Amino acid sequence: MSEPCSPQSQPQQRLIDKELLDACIHCGLCLPACPTYLATGREMESPRGRIYLLNQWNEGTLPLQSRLAEHIDSCLGCLGCQTACPSGVKYENILDQARPHLAARKPGILRFGMRFGFSNLLPDYPRLHFVAGVMRQWQRLKGGELLRRLAGVKPNQPIATSEPLQQNPVQKLFYRLWQLNALLPEIPSFKPLPKKSWQAGEKKGTVQLFAGCVMDVFYNSVNHASIDLLKAQGCIVEVPEQTCCGALAAHAGETDVMLSLARRNIRSLEVTEGPIVVTSAGCGAMMKQYAEFLHDDEEYAARASAVSQRIVDVTEELAKNDFKHNDRCGAELPDLKIAYHAACHLAHAQGIREAPQKLLLDFAAAVNSVTPNKIELIPLREAEHCCGSAGIYNLLHTELSMEVLNRKMDLIKESGADTVVTTNPGCMLQIKAGVNQRRVPVQVTHLCELLRDAYCGEVE
Ligand code: SF4
Ligand code: SF4
Repeated sequence: MSEPCSPQSQPQQRLIDKELLDACIHCGLCLPACPTYLATGREMESPRGRIYLLNQWNEGTLPLQSRLAEHIDSCLGCLGCQTACPSGVKYENILDQARPHLAARKPGILRFGMRFGFSNLLPDYPRLHFVAGVMRQWQRLKGGELLRRLAGVKPNQPIATSEPLQQNPVQKLFYRLWQLNALLPEIPSFKPLPKKSWQAGEKKGTVQLFAGCVMDVFYNSVNHASIDLLKAQGCIVEVPEQTCCGALAAHAGETDVMLSLARRNIRSLEVTEGPIVVTSAGCGAMMKQYAEFLHDDEEYAARASAVSQRIVDVTEELAKNDFKHNDRCGAELPDLKIAYHAACHLAHAQGIREAPQKLLLDFAAAVNSVTPNKIELIPLREAEHCCGSAGIYNLLHTELSMEVLNRKMDLIKESGADTVVTTNPGCMLQIKAGVNQRRVPVQVTHLCELLRDAYCGEVE
């Protein structure tokens, strides 16, 4: 059932829990971990600055006016600061409490459009795939080139320039549409996931695959690769009834939409068995939080907790077991210099670091045992720093997002890698946009696709 697009209730004028803000001792140790601070050099774009502003707002010294709201809103929500903070500041909880207040300040039409998307597009998979199909045709017909001309943009102009040259409102609108279009990767054709599948041989149990909404449109092949890998490890893989996890709604402060989607997923998933394997780090982080968000819901608290406890990232699940490999392992792959970019929602939000590293190390060892020196794992500086994607942040704050991305792209170049591996669709979209913009010979791939090509061979 579709959800209403107008807010069901305005956020209560409860401010942020004082003890959350008081935990900050203003030491500044989080500043070097904050991508928006590194990009701007401005204290108010840092975790410490934002906590200071929220404190002022909490105490009634500052109203939540545009300038204050902008500084909070420009936070990526990457949680790099939470990892870096020695005082245990729960920045994620602070953001969760601040976001509904920021959402209430958005212009009505923008908020309505966003709520419509979160409630009626992302969770409605037939509708989402219809829109994806239209966009695919648009890309085939080179619609981006038309927008570029209408916007008066020169060929090869960067996606974000601090001072767009367009002066008249119509050209400005086309410029914005051209920017958004340029951030999209090529939308591939879609192949439905099998409802239930397995491989011959000994079985180790049943798992549920959570395919995601955006993930399955842009990276449907990653979900197929994940299923192949899970089957290769002896799993019976089911793809249960599911809907959007609600992460994008939550990040936009539309908590009621997220809760509605969470309840739908809980109803579908609680009747299934086994771990719920998630291929998008952003979805996994959100679903692990269902228990926290619904802890005071009498009907759903225990059910949410049971579902949240079953959520595992696909890398966690795959790292539990070794892959069998033969003397052709990775033989079809070209020589690769691989750098790993850790998705914020995997490393910072879920604290998952070892599993992807183990999978990569095992993969390199397996392939190199067949063809020596084929795979080189390259260190990437600031690998855990956000790339600037952060859900739909890159669409709403394109200029700052591109500044954050520029730093990431400089470091990828510095590393000498020709392949960037990550585990989140948002990171893949963003880094791919950086690659396209700079026209550098770097491929961006999900870890599961890389592993599938080595352990399962080419799959159609
Ligand atoms: S958030 Fe943590 S690291 Fe940052 S200034 Fe506050 S106490 Fe220091
Ligand atoms: S969540 Fe990320 S962008 Fe926001 S203050 Fe923390 S480190 Fe900076």
